[in-house]
Amino acid sequence: MNFNKLLPRRLFSLLAVLFVAISLTAAEEFVVVIDAGHGGKDPGAQSANRKVNEKDIALKVALRAGELIRNAHPEVTVKYTRRTDVFVELKERARIANKAKADLFISIHCNAAEGRKAHGAEVFVLGSEEGRTQANLNAAKRENSVILLEKDYKESYQGFDPSSPESYIIFEYMQSEYLKESIELAQCIQKQLCTTAKRYDRGVHQAGFLVLHATTMPSILIELGFISNAEEEKFLNSADGKEKLSKSIANGFENYYKNLKKDKQSAPQTKQTSVSTAQASAVSAQATAQPEQANKKIDQANKSQNQLTEENEKKTTSDIVFKVQFLTSSTKLPANSPRLKGLTDVSYYEEKGTYKYTCGNTTDLDKAQQLRKKVAATYKDAFLVAFRDGVRINTTDAINEYKALHP
Ligand SMILES: [Zn+2]
Repeated sequence: MNFNKLLPRRLFSLLAVLFVAISLTAAEEFVVVIDAGHGGKDPGAQSANRKVNEKDIALKVALRAGELIRNAHPEVTVKYTRRTDVFVELKERARIANKAKADLFISIHCNAAEGRKAHGAEVFVLGSEEGRTQANLNAAKRENSVILLEKDYKESYQGFDPSSPESYIIFEYMQSEYLKESIELAQCIQKQLCTTAKRYDRGVHQAGFLVLHATTMPSILIELGFISNAEEEKFLNSADGKEKLSKSIANGFENYYKNLKKDKQSAPQTKQTSVSTAQASAVSAQATAQPEQANKKIDQANKSQNQLTEENEKKTTSDIVFKVQFLTSSTKLPANSPRLKGLTDVSYYEEKGTYKYTCGNTTDLDKAQQLRKKVAATYKDAFLVAFRDGVRINTTDAINEYKALHP
């Protein structure tokens, strides 16, 4: 054996392995969690003859879409909330995504309506549309009603009643921190559903889906089509139909992902982005929305920082402080910055390297709401945030707690 020849070669391969290992750890992992709706004892929506179940279509499309994404992008990690026909609680689905620190959450469903004529694909992001159609609310009610199959759902979801319109008011209070990205992803996929899978375009909408509310990343919910419509049921249940739908999701993801990478590359390292979240979301929604959606006011629900299900320590509301968040900045702003628009009681908190600016400081929810409306004249999508002992807490929880003590 010729060691003189072998040694440098071995050394080279060792170095190569080391290099790959280092660059792998250096590269940020991109994680997509794909959520096949329903499962196990929960069939989801069913065809008229009850032979075709939403849970089966959702699972097949979820697994195939994930496979396609992975084939095209081996560097992307795809995770599933379920891979088999099992029942998974709604809060558990969100927990899986949050725990995986997912970059995207894609929940896959089929629609159903009493009128057998309804058809078409649509993608939802969390929120509440002004003048929302009954159809939006119906979709949310139907998907949220799965929690009724969970033990202790009343405690888990803090009294949320999927069938009561009042329960949906929580989605009107606040603004999702991931609205812009969620809308972008939703539009990329909706476009593909209409081209690749040739579905009738029902558009991108906002509604109060609990599963989207509990995730802490850009999140969308896809309604592939109406299982209650005979023709669409046939498509959804066919191998060809499922393949086209899976491709639509993978292609839509691909377009979103490419744009994201492009944005990252073109962004200079010392970028002084100090765009208000409110302005950014509004611009994005208007620039990319379809014409009939362009004017829809984004009155958006809060992205829960913690899961809905997280147990709050028993405390009184007396120490909950409400503020109005109106601006984020990658750099700390001087107190006299013109971007603070002369607002009073301005303070900021830091989260993941971003400075989040708030104004107001009150333990009175009504006063906080009035202030939000006032600030919204300048910062259209200003939203409420809540703090306890100076630490940001879930706004929905804070409001629920407040309301329990101020009936
Ligand atoms: Zn569903």
